[in-house]
Amino acid sequence: MGMFDSTGLQSSLFFESPGEIYARVFRELKPRTAIPELRVEFCKFANADNFIRLENGRLHVRMSDLLEGAPAPVIEALAQILLGKLYRKEVPRLYAHRYRLYLNRRDVRRQAHLVRQIRGRKFLSGPAGAHYHLEEIFERLNRQFFGGLMGMPQLGWSRGTSRSMLGHFDPSHNAIIINRIFDRPNVPALALEYVMFHEMLHLRFPVDHAGSRRRVHTKEFREAEKEFPQLKEAKELLKKL
Ligand SMILES: [Zn+2]
Repeated sequence: MGMFDSTGLQSSLFFESPGEIYARVFRELKPRTAIPELRVEFCKFANADNFIRLENGRLHVRMSDLLEGAPAPVIEALAQILLGKLYRKEVPRLYAHRYRLYLNRRDVRRQAHLVRQIRGRKFLSGPAGAHYHLEEIFERLNRQFFGGLMGMPQLGWSRGTSRSMLGHFDPSHNAIIINRIFDRPNVPALALEYVMFHEMLHLRFPVDHAGSRRRVHTKEFREAEKEFPQLKEAKELLKKL
């Protein structure tokens, strides 16, 4: 982590905890009121929902755990929004904008999508599809490219067939989710194998947090991906899905 967060703002708030940020924003909005007892926590919600409640003089804030790694200025923006709402103060547009920008970040959207998929229901679909079995595909690729050494994560099919995501590896649940669009007889196995291989590489190469940007597809990731023999054909197939 550096001096600048991903929204490009210089962060002087970097060393404050979320609780300290809420206390500071509270002082800003209600300078003549003593700061109430504050409880700020991250919760596993199915959506990026956040709650604030004042009860018996205690202020209770529950933020989505999607925000757990968010830069301090984003937490501050949300504190302005939630406390502003609670005390009926007009929230400067800057904060609403900053918070929206963060939710629109590609990696955050992806994570939100996955969280909705997994938490929106009680369990992950099993690896068996109507046409393809994900364990078979995984094991075949495991033998071919990883010497059979890769531990099998949870494997499941997405609920819908939205085209926003072909596959996804979720490190927090150690799960690979493949778009159900591939579970069709007219979809060549090669297309599915490529997507599975790509997600297996995410398991193999963790996200690089060095520097100010999260790097998902590192150079070594890209190099390893080139070992897939029919990479070009597979990518062509994906375009025709
Ligand atoms: Zn990827």
